[in-house]
Amino acid sequence: MQSRILFPQSVQQLLRCPRCHARLTQAGQQIGCTNSECATNYPTVDGIPVLINEQSSVFLIDDFVSRRETFFGNIGENRLKRMALRLIPTNSKNIKGRTNYGRMSDVLLRQSSSPLVLVIGGSILGEGMESLLSNAAIALVESDVSFGPRTMLICDAHDIPFEDGSFDGVIVQAVLEHAVDPYRCCEEIHRVLKEQGVVYAETSFMQQVHGGRYDFTRFTHLGHRRLFRRFREIDSGAVCGPGMALAWSYQYFLLSFATSRSLRVLLRVFGSLTSFYLKYFDHYLINKRGTLDAASAYYFMGTKTEEVLSDRDLMELYKGVGSP
Ligand SMILES: [Zn+2]
Repeated sequence: MQSRILFPQSVQQLLRCPRCHARLTQAGQQIGCTNSECATNYPTVDGIPVLINEQSSVFLIDDFVSRRETFFGNIGENRLKRMALRLIPTNSKNIKGRTNYGRMSDVLLRQSSSPLVLVIGGSILGEGMESLLSNAAIALVESDVSFGPRTMLICDAHDIPFEDGSFDGVIVQAVLEHAVDPYRCCEEIHRVLKEQGVVYAETSFMQQVHGGRYDFTRFTHLGHRRLFRRFREIDSGAVCGPGMALAWSYQYFLLSFATSRSLRVLLRVFGSLTSFYLKYFDHYLINKRGTLDAASAYYFMGTKTEEVLSDRDLMELYKGVGSP
């Protein structure tokens, strides 16, 4: 069977070995590293390249070849759950994503007439990303560590399989809390961006464990800024507010009482029906100073620089209210 070409030839030429960064060659379903000392072979699964560095990733290439459940599981298995969840009101609300993506599009199009953007965690469309998607001038390379409706490439953000300076933009939405080493991921994002390239990140702060065992860390607004200390800030702040944080906290409080699957489903339905309205407060709260101490998630948008924000300068960027 002929491999599907999921992204343009020009993008395929930017692909590099995730272990050693050497060029790759494709023969049928196999992709091989051209560095004789590395010589790693990578498979494609239904035409999707699986470019994982097994030496440093929590994932094995065989997880994808055998279609084992990774982050989101397999689409088929999740369809029933997705249908059930669609019937109850959600207690989550991304307030600023859409506006932020609009702004990112403007910045990208000022820098290039045909920007190329890497999406990390792009197996499904991120909240608010429609504006970016609808702009035909912007080309997306959608990568993830799970197969989903939009996955073009399986790769791990700890070892991004692209040449240095490949992208005009990188999107990493609701991903970095799920990385064992988010600092390394940000170094990789910095590496694959062109000079002045734009990063857009959304990362959890006050959210309980989601994604099961694939959930490792949280960031305050300032902690998130430090993660991107090799970037010049365009904008940052809360993307999901304290109302959502409270609804999640209440929901997980209820869920703490039960381990049985059926009882947890019931508690989830009850919790959602009795807390979904809290997210609407976030429209009012999202830009308040207190929200910088209490949000469900923060965003950061910035451009790549060669300078590093010092920790003393970082301290000056605190804009919350502080202790009561
Ligand atoms: Zn290699």
